[in-house]
Amino acid sequence: MSDFESTVRTLARKYALENAAKFGGKANPGAVIGKVMAEGGDAVRARGKEVPALAQAVIAEVNAMPPEEQKAAFAQFEGQLIQRAKVEREGPLKPLPNATKGKVVLRLAPNPSGPPHFGHGRGMVITEEYRRMYDGQFILRFDDTDTTVKPPWMPAYEMFPETVEWLCGRKPDRILFASDHVETYYEWAHELIRRGGGYVCECVGDAFRELKEKALPCPHRDQTPEVNAEKFQRMVDGGYRRGEAVLRVKTDIAHKDPAMRDWVAFRIAEEPHPRLEKLGRKQHHAWPLLDFQSAIDDHLAGVTHIIRGKDLRDSTGKQEFLYRHLGWTYPETMYWGRVSVHEFGKFSKSILNKAIEAGEFTGWDDPRLPTFPALKRRGFTAEGIRNFWLSFGITEKDIAASIVTLEAENKKVLEPSAHRYFFVADAKVLHIQGAPKLHARPALLPDKPAAGVREIDVPDGHVLVAAEDLRDGPLRLKDLANVTVSGGVARHEGDDIAWARQHKAAIVQWVPAPGIPATLVTPENERVEGFAEPALAKEPVGAHVQLERLGFARVDEKRADGSVVLYFTHK
Ligand SMILES: [Zn+2]
Repeated sequence: MSDFESTVRTLARKYALENAAKFGGKANPGAVIGKVMAEGGDAVRARGKEVPALAQAVIAEVNAMPPEEQKAAFAQFEGQLIQRAKVEREGPLKPLPNATKGKVVLRLAPNPSGPPHFGHGRGMVITEEYRRMYDGQFILRFDDTDTTVKPPWMPAYEMFPETVEWLCGRKPDRILFASDHVETYYEWAHELIRRGGGYVCECVGDAFRELKEKALPCPHRDQTPEVNAEKFQRMVDGGYRRGEAVLRVKTDIAHKDPAMRDWVAFRIAEEPHPRLEKLGRKQHHAWPLLDFQSAIDDHLAGVTHIIRGKDLRDSTGKQEFLYRHLGWTYPETMYWGRVSVHEFGKFSKSILNKAIEAGEFTGWDDPRLPTFPALKRRGFTAEGIRNFWLSFGITEKDIAASIVTLEAENKKVLEPSAHRYFFVADAKVLHIQGAPKLHARPALLPDKPAAGVREIDVPDGHVLVAAEDLRDGPLRLKDLANVTVSGGVARHEGDDIAWARQHKAAIVQWVPAPGIPATLVTPENERVEGFAEPALAKEPVGAHVQLERLGFARVDEKRADGSVVLYFTHK
């Protein structure tokens, strides 16, 4: 057995035993796999896709053990769980380098070329967590100066702040738009030129690249600042067409990394900027590229710490040349690797846009999508998503995670407070004969008796049971009664649990007839029609509930006719 396998098996055994002890001898795979991922660290998460299958096998072994054996096996792990809890309390993020409380300024700088996707949540959550730790400032800045390759998509300007507020429970301290600062970038470009740090290059086609690859300067590199200033003004005034001129930052033309050699700071782009168009502002011909724009904005906004993907290490190198020309100090910079959630991996923004336009999805909140509106509608909580992202911290390793881990985090949030209800799909009426007037009082939250009970009356012995649960023989209608079913009719057998055990009666869900019609929308956007117990109608829209034996759901809609629409969250 490999190290990886034995680590996963040991962790799975420990947490399956822990979970089984809490939940009547049956461990929940979601919760166990989540803990295996959390404690397993990068080594386990890097092979996250393999974890569920390995863990499931261990969980099945544990679930098959008699309770006494589970208890004995669990005893050997007890000390290790306590240690783990201590580690969690110390806070999930490592300290920022050179950070002073009250002086930290962080920024999240998305390109608003599409809606926030699940991966953006990481930047939001980590930025807000550091802001909170250091009593600092969280700037949301739209890096929206690319009108050509990834042009701005207008709804994103509202979706990003809304998502930050929902996920972090707080608005960003400031919202900035790079497209508001174009005149400022021009001023700093002139200053760069005045200091001899930039030049307007009119090389066409591949001329510059061919020279650069040989570490040779182009003829424009030695132009005087006066000539460069005049040519740059011509770029700004619309005197060049696309591709005829760029402003370059002077670095080292023989730099060992060709990407660093005299990089482009401004180019000509003639597409109108949709945001400026909407605001009725004047358009621009010369646009800064991301490395120039974000470098200037970071300095002017007083950003002290940058957290960025390790794929942007080159950007830091390029921007440091610019900061040196301008006599500025570069912010502290930290890098992280990618975290991919493999179930979400197949959705790219362009695929999504096309599919939604073509009507393949119902909208941005279609339950099949990994967008925030969709996750929220399904019943994922901001806290669950926050804990998911915080569990990875900041590491430069690439991590493959599973939605199972996210579900486990969300379950921890929902489990203590989501009221339980019965729901039956594909319902059939069962008449219990020979019964007194039946009444059930199942708990809203079995672990918290103080939360109260649902009072369910069954005055004439008619209940609804799912067709798949309805077979001849002994049945236990959970919290109500034991029955023996024969040919669709039930004989009342009292309510002693011992009878149910002795007759090996399956425990099934039921709803008092007629119940309230309820539609359960699955993560695959299928609509399952069924009935729920009447007390569910008291829950407000947006409430998280737990449908007994099925899993969690969110109340999405309450119709005038008394019927309810629920979105399934997860098990
Ligand atoms: Zn040139």
